[in-house]
Amino acid sequence: VQWREPPTIRRLEESVTNRIAAGEVVQRPSSVVKELVENSLDAGATSISVVVKDGGLKLIQVSDNGHGSRLGTIRIKVDLGGDFREPDHLADCNGYVVVRVRQYEDLPILCERHTTSKLTSFEDLQTIKSMGFRGEALASMTYVGHVTVMTITDGQLHGYRVSYRDGVMEHEPKPCAAVKGTQIMVENLFYNMLARRKALQNASDDYPKIVDLISRFAIYHTNVSFTCRKHGANKADVSTVIAASRLDAIKMVYGMPIARDLMEIGASDNNPTRSVFEMDGFISSANYMAKKTTMVLFINDRLVECTPLKRAIEVAYSATLTKASKPFVFMSIRVPSEHVDVNVHPTKREVSLLNQESLVNTIQDAIESKLMSSNNTRTFHTQA
Ligand code: ADP
Ligand code: MG
Repeated sequence: VQWREPPTIRRLEESVTNRIAAGEVVQRPSSVVKELVENSLDAGATSISVVVKDGGLKLIQVSDNGHGSRLGTIRIKVDLGGDFREPDHLADCNGYVVVRVRQYEDLPILCERHTTSKLTSFEDLQTIKSMGFRGEALASMTYVGHVTVMTITDGQLHGYRVSYRDGVMEHEPKPCAAVKGTQIMVENLFYNMLARRKALQNASDDYPKIVDLISRFAIYHTNVSFTCRKHGANKADVSTVIAASRLDAIKMVYGMPIARDLMEIGASDNNPTRSVFEMDGFISSANYMAKKTTMVLFINDRLVECTPLKRAIEVAYSATLTKASKPFVFMSIRVPSEHVDVNVHPTKREVSLLNQESLVNTIQDAIESKLMSSNNTRTFHTQA
């Protein structure tokens, strides 16, 4: 046996590991849109608009009217013998105090990897309400595209504009005129990942996926108005105003014909030995015809996918309706936050649920009985 010299183990350059990780968070143009829109929602926006050029490879632009981001924050801290306190605790101290001014950076580190205003400790993950928490999305975009941010915060006379590359600012933030909120532009996505760019150019364009994504957000967030259009197009492909009800929002996005064939559904299970959850939504009736299932699922406010649930719903339809058309399903599920793990994948697309099987079964049963009773009512009506 001939012994071979083992290869030397080297530490990868940070820029290399960052680019590898970035390719995972940002898989395609629609994943950029998802991250940007979720950031806008986290920023409390009530209006979000998306513009896309060349399926997102040339340009993705998301504008919102959220709280914006500051150049930096100045916080005054009071040193009580090594113990930093906010000034409103000044009353507590009866001795000398040292006042320190600390400059916190916001815009300069906005696109740095693992910087976030949302998560502070690992334990927070359990209860986190915001869509984001990994502090990776914007950073990732700067490793695989050119990112420019324009943002203004409440009460400021002007905003700032700054571009980022590989996690850092390309120049000092420049004052600019801006309207309330934040606009983020991602240009030339995957300019440095030729294989990915080629694959995306050959594949059919990502724009339909982006329209689909915004449609889903729009029917869930009825208190936010959304638009989504191709760059240079007069007409938006999704355009909603704040809606009075979920059904109104579905009408706006998917059209009256679908909305007409929807039935409201709900289910819950409060048996603590099994799963604890609440579900509400709309499902299509026997009148609805489609070749493909549309399943819009939110779990604890997050847009996610759950393949076992989708399968179970398809089974319920094919078992109950004679002409088994594929369903349209909108569903919002709430489970206690400790029953869902949001951190199973960098894209946060799949979540893992405790007692998933019994939850899926309960929902499948609820759908079957709803379909059954509505089918009977229908027959009854036609006979009458
Ligand atoms: P995460 O969302 O996980 O915190 P991101 O990389 O997506 O990480 O964003 C980093 C930070 O940038 C956020 O925590 C937030 O403070 C700020 N930010 C991003 N997008 C916006 C926006 N549209 N409006 C205001 N602040 C934003
Ligand atoms: Mg985010």
